[in-house]
Amino acid sequence: MCVFCEIIKRKSPAHIVYENDQLISFLDIEPINEGHVLIVPKQHVDTIEELSDDTLMGIMGVAKKIVAALKDIYGNEGYSIMQNGGKFCDFGHAHFHVFPRYDNDGFGWTYGSEEKDVNEEIAKGIRIQLESNL
Ligand SMILES: [Zn+2]
Repeated sequence: MCVFCEIIKRKSPAHIVYENDQLISFLDIEPINEGHVLIVPKQHVDTIEELSDDTLMGIMGVAKKIVAALKDIYGNEGYSIMQNGGKFCDFGHAHFHVFPRYDNDGFGWTYGSEEKDVNEEIAKGIRIQLESNL
């Protein structure tokens, strides 16, 4: 059983901030900034593709409320929401990070050294694939 499933089943401790039938939210034990929470669907999957639209909407609805709560508590200048999937999903259990952001808080994107293309051909390829998937 993964650590998030253990938290959901109360077999591991966590500082829980919210829970409903679809999801649980608790403090990240390695916060980017104080108030960093995870929103974890109760279904053990490693990609959002396996979650229902209803669960995803539920997660984003809770994320919106957490963003507002963090702003009320910390007066932060902004926030970040992150989600890593597939091979890059820690613990193999999908989760969303929500944390307050400040100027010069040290958090940022890290780019590889190789330059990547941005062009209409790439956009067209994604558009065509989206149309066939919808
Ligand atoms: Zn799990």
